Amino acid sequence: MSALDELLGHARETVALGEAAGLLGWDQETMMPRGAADQRAEMLAALEGAVHARRADPRVGALLAELSDAALDPVSAAQLRIVRREHHRATRVPASLAAEIARVTSLSQGHWAEARRNEDVAAFLPWLAQVVALKREEAAALAETGGALYDALLDGFEPGARAAEVEVIFAQMRPRLVALRDRAMAAPAPAEPLAGHFAEEAQRCLAMRLAGAFGYDWTRGRLDLAVHPFSSGGGDDVRITTRVDPRDPFNCLYSTLHETGHAVYEQSIASSLRLTPAGRGASMAIHESQARLFENQLGRSRAFTSWLFSAMAEAFGDFRIGDPETFYRSVNRLEPGFIRTEADEVQYNLHVMLRFDLERAMIAGALEVADIEAAWNERFAADFGRAVPVPSKGLLQDVHWSVGLFGYFPTYALGNVYAGQLFAALREGVPDLDTHLRAGDPGPAVAWLRERLHRHGSLHEPGLLMGKVLGQDMPVAPDPEPLLAYLETKFSDIYGFAG
Ligand code: ZN
Repeated sequence: MSALDELLGHARETVALGEAAGLLGWDQETMMPRGAADQRAEMLAALEGAVHARRADPRVGALLAELSDAALDPVSAAQLRIVRREHHRATRVPASLAAEIARVTSLSQGHWAEARRNEDVAAFLPWLAQVVALKREEAAALAETGGALYDALLDGFEPGARAAEVEVIFAQMRPRLVALRDRAMAAPAPAEPLAGHFAEEAQRCLAMRLAGAFGYDWTRGRLDLAVHPFSSGGGDDVRITTRVDPRDPFNCLYSTLHETGHAVYEQSIASSLRLTPAGRGASMAIHESQARLFENQLGRSRAFTSWLFSAMAEAFGDFRIGDPETFYRSVNRLEPGFIRTEADEVQYNLHVMLRFDLERAMIAGALEVADIEAAWNERFAADFGRAVPVPSKGLLQDVHWSVGLFGYFPTYALGNVYAGQLFAALREGVPDLDTHLRAGDPGPAVAWLRERLHRHGSLHEPGLLMGKVLGQDMPVAPDPEPLLAYLETKFSDIYGFAG
């Protein structure tokens, strides 16, 4: 067997084990009986330990060294780039630390969920302190000499990204988002919010109809309920979850569209890449760009909501909004809310910036876990002008920190930025987009994304992939300008002031 075949065969089994761990994670969030938490934590830690050991295997290092000068076809070269990267990261983190992180975060997640239900921050903080300590230890192991701890974690989700660059992008975005938000909030509301009772079963049916319309393949996926909607898995088994609130069907419908964006991306990766290192999305920000495009640029567009208006009437009967234009304005109205996942397009990135600054300070050791709730509440009041009423609307709203996802939040905002760049190109590439969307058919837009972006998986690094999609054969950096222009145009129109 050639060195290349041996290495790729080994990598394939590692990917398969990772998929098995992912499936157990999905089960933990959807089906698992609560009493199984400790047992599940041990199972996940064992699998994580096995995956880690395989990635760090000295034989992998030897094969990589043997192949370093080999002339490879582009696909094999891309696979090796990913294997090399994972090997490099795994050899820096001791296996015992990797397994301990898997065990503690699995338990911590359950304690977060309980603390959130009981509005009990004090019960969660000891777990958060453990997770932060472990992630700092991991970051120190990963960081290049003198490198920032936070960058080492960010790099795990967004290869090559640096906090200092994110900071520059956020500084460009913040003043324009705040100005747009303040202007809109001072204007008369463009429409009333949705009110009434919306049957849960009808919500789920409509959510499934939306997912199908956006290209989700039900023969290779399923929809279940979870506290925090997510998408998981790859290749031929990509599952999504949503949540249902009888007073707010938009929560269910737009969460579903968001997760469908993630899932259709995974389902559309070339089948030749299935169960290989390059067989997943290119990065978290690229992933998020697809989810946000589906949810916002397409799903909350005037054209698509005019179709959704009729579909809502079919699903729920008369729901007190009389025409598609009022419905569009209601879908897009700015709300003075506390919850990131429910935030409108204008304020969403401000929620991310708050988390980015706080988690960066925690990982740097500049903010103690004991002070995190006070820091959160103070910052929220400064950014949003309101006091956080209960922890579930503040510090305890997101699952991320409980499961050790430090460095993940900025990828949401970078995803929005990429979505802005991609949507500008998509509009040019599909000139009759609105005609299709008005008929409830995002198919041509999804086909455009599949052909140019989805099918490549991780064959290209995020910047180069963006460059290729945007028609340039070189890396393209995240540029917030198209997103800001899109938001200013859309919301000055809805709120009736000059952009
Ligand atoms: Zn997402």
